[in-house]
Amino acid sequence: MKIAFIGLGNMGGPMALNLHKAGHAVSAFDLSTDACKKLGAEGVSIAKSAAETLAGAEVVISMLPASQHVEALYLGSDGKPGLLEHIPVGTLVIDSSTIAAATSRKVAEAGGKRGVAVIDAPVSGGTGGAIAGTLTFMVGGSEADLERARPVLEKMGANIFHAGGAGAGQTAKICNNMLLGILMIGTSEAIALGVANGLDPKVLSEIMRRSSGGNWALEKYNPLPGVMETAPASKGYAGGFGTDLMLKDLGLAQENAAAVRAATPLGGLARNLYAAHSLAGHGALDFSSVIKLVQSKPA
Ligand code: NAD
Repeated sequence: MKIAFIGLGNMGGPMALNLHKAGHAVSAFDLSTDACKKLGAEGVSIAKSAAETLAGAEVVISMLPASQHVEALYLGSDGKPGLLEHIPVGTLVIDSSTIAAATSRKVAEAGGKRGVAVIDAPVSGGTGGAIAGTLTFMVGGSEADLERARPVLEKMGANIFHAGGAGAGQTAKICNNMLLGILMIGTSEAIALGVANGLDPKVLSEIMRRSSGGNWALEKYNPLPGVMETAPASKGYAGGFGTDLMLKDLGLAQENAAAVRAATPLGGLARNLYAAHSLAGHGALDFSSVIKLVQSKPA
């Protein structure tokens, strides 16, 4: 299958590579020349612009940071037309970025008017899941469009869920990430408390992992450097899922909660803690670096 892939960052890069390795003809593009070079070195064909990736493509996939990037890409900005103008009728668009559900619905509606099916398919599983091809996809759109997307999604993920109509994938995603943001702070607090009491963090983490406090951070993403070799914490909090991206998702959850008058007190507190962490200069570090907020300093 010919696939256009736009956005080759921490997630999009390995996702596009998995499609290439599965034998699809991928034409990829990113605004960052470094991101393009990295993927080009793996044998993936790099286009000179987003529009150029479209030549012959049956499926277009995007993996961009936030709502404004997705809206500008597909619907245009500053008077310039968006990519939708150039996408042939009958093409399937899969946007895997985590963005506002309202933006996903807007793009899907604009696509529908032009005969282009657009589904939102945000992911969970982190960069490890993107590399291993074991992501979880949460899809918003019609059942029929999800079935069209399934063979492609299966090359990048292990779990594919139909959350509901357009935008529903995004709603599921922000519920999940609100929980993730909260549990990473809770896990950090518990580890920091144990360490302040002289416990070995590896032993404490293992005890909690196998006890009632067990969770995804303890399984795969320990926030303390040195506990888990593969976690971003042990790589200087580089790569992974940026603090500013988590802050964006917690902001989306709060906007959504306000719109439907839901009570999300811990989600609100978590957003403020990540905001403080970002303001302290850690926005580009992986979000598990939030443990820095609660680590005791030696007396
Ligand atoms: P990233 O910042 O590493 O990559 C985003 C890429 O998009 C960058 O390389 C940037 O240059 C590119 N880009 C921006 N605008 C563009 C445009 N108009 N055309 C082409 N390229 C453009 O971000 P990421 O970590 O890969 O995350 C991407 C999305 O996935 C975000 O919405 C994020 O919330 C979500 N997500 C991330 C993770 C994670 O663990 N990193 C996990 C799940 C979901």
